[in-house]
Amino acid sequence: MTKRALIIGGGIAGTVTAMALRKAGLDPVVYEAYDRDSDGVGAFLTLAENGLAALSVLDLDLSRLGMDTPAMVMISRGRQLATAPMRARTVSRSDLYGALRDEAVRRGVPIEYGKRLVDATVTPSGVQARFADGTTADGDLLVGADGLRSRTRAIIDPKAPAARHIGLLNTGGYARGLRLSGPPGVAHFVFGRRCFFGYFIHPASDVWWFANPPARREPSREELLAITGRQWRERLNDLFADDPGPMLDIIAATEHIVPAWNTYDFPRVPTWHNERMVLVGDAVHATSPSSGQGASLAIEDAVVLGRCLRDIDEPAAAFATFRHLRRERVERVVAQGRRNGNGKMAGPVGAAIRDLILPVVMRRIAAKDAQGWMHNYRIDWDESAR
Ligand SMILES: Cc1cc2nc3c(=O)[nH]c(=O)nc-3n(C[C@H](O)[C@H](O)[C@H](O)COP(=O)(O)OP(=O)(O)OC[C@H]3O[C@@H](n4cnc5c(N)ncnc54)[C@H](O)[C@@H]3O)c2cc1C
Repeated sequence: MTKRALIIGGGIAGTVTAMALRKAGLDPVVYEAYDRDSDGVGAFLTLAENGLAALSVLDLDLSRLGMDTPAMVMISRGRQLATAPMRARTVSRSDLYGALRDEAVRRGVPIEYGKRLVDATVTPSGVQARFADGTTADGDLLVGADGLRSRTRAIIDPKAPAARHIGLLNTGGYARGLRLSGPPGVAHFVFGRRCFFGYFIHPASDVWWFANPPARREPSREELLAITGRQWRERLNDLFADDPGPMLDIIAATEHIVPAWNTYDFPRVPTWHNERMVLVGDAVHATSPSSGQGASLAIEDAVVLGRCLRDIDEPAAAFATFRHLRRERVERVVAQGRRNGNGKMAGPVGAAIRDLILPVVMRRIAAKDAQGWMHNYRIDWDESAR
């Protein structure tokens, strides 16, 4: 009998998991807390080579979205420290979510909006989800793809650890009509004296950018929301006032600066599943945005979970295999993201050491393909998960 899978969350992990489970012969339904277009406004992200490869297993081609990112350049005090080739794609979050949701629906996956999971229980025949609007849904299994603040995680393990604040805020925007010289699509990463800045020159003229103001203490959501756009502009102008580079021009050409938000990671989530429920994506291994891997790991999870549920009949056994196949890799990426983030927060001495060491490290990484473990990861759909 076809298994019904309740997928909580219609973000990246949820929509891609739904498509992978459908390919695996299950019957998935997605339940998303918000309305169709409420997520992802403003920000963008880079899908790494491994994430794009995992999408291609499901015949998902996003080459019409965003821009190719063929390389990264690291810059400090106006000097280029290092460059490295990449095979990535930089896309706006709202475009990405929209495209994945449209494609899931096109492939026959129902998506129900305004369905916020509040509780779920294992029943004698499967699992029952309960939503904030008072409705329920029954299935054979439930996938918690509900992001960093996952309700499913707390249901599976009420003692699950809280996410770790990583001492960086994130803000950014799109600078319109600014002509910068430089290769299109390339990730320019600037270690400013007081703040890290990233920018990408879109081939059609805009400049997409983000900044990571340091925050030693975790500000509350209310504190962050109380900071106006004008105050952010002043703060960023101040943070980059002494740095060479196009940062001030980019900020000036940006009409709307996205309000800053906190960033977090999870070094380790001990419990990934119970008999009928399992976690994927940020819900189980959020990584610092500095890894550039959060979305790609979520996509990999989806495809690997699809294989496990295709080949292993008992959900609990399929979930255990999924965790076994994924845990070491995702924890390694989270640790790498943490290290990358630390480099963004160096003081004057640390920055001087970083500027000396980084070019050597980057040359070594390139020569030995030392990050190949992260980017060259490929999933063979035809291989048995058993
Ligand atoms: C600033 C920033 C920059 C980033 N840059 C990159 C990058 O360059 N590269 C990269 O790979 N990754 C990046 N990431 C990480 C990436 O965005 C996440 O890893 C990815 O979105 C995880 O997908 P997800 O589906 O697990 O979670 P999400 O995308 O957060 O989706 C979770 C979904 O679940 C829904 N939901 C939540 N609770 C409930 C509930 N109770 N009931 C029903 N639905 C619910 C939410 O509304 C949401 O739609 C970045 C993240 C941030 C914040």
